[in-house]
Amino acid sequence: MAKTGTQRPETAAEGAVKLNCPYCQKKTPVIPADDYRPIYVECRACGKRFIAERVRGGIEVMKLEAAPTLDDPDRREIELGQGDEE
Ligand SMILES: [Zn+2]
Repeated sequence: MAKTGTQRPETAAEGAVKLNCPYCQKKTPVIPADDYRPIYVECRACGKRFIAERVRGGIEVMKLEAAPTLDDPDRREIELGQGDEE
């Protein structure tokens, strides 16, 4: 999973939104995914990772330990990969 060169700062800055970190409640900039996939965000204030997921009308944040399996980007890939055996 080594992705390099996919982030472009110009577009990243434009698309950023500020979300409240579920751990420290401070605002941190987040670049939402183009689609409705949940993404990992690293809080600028406390350095913890949480999950941001686009929902109708906005973006929802979740602590990692509170996220259901399919909302965790890493585990989601594993689950979807394994369901392909028929
Ligand atoms: Zn935080």
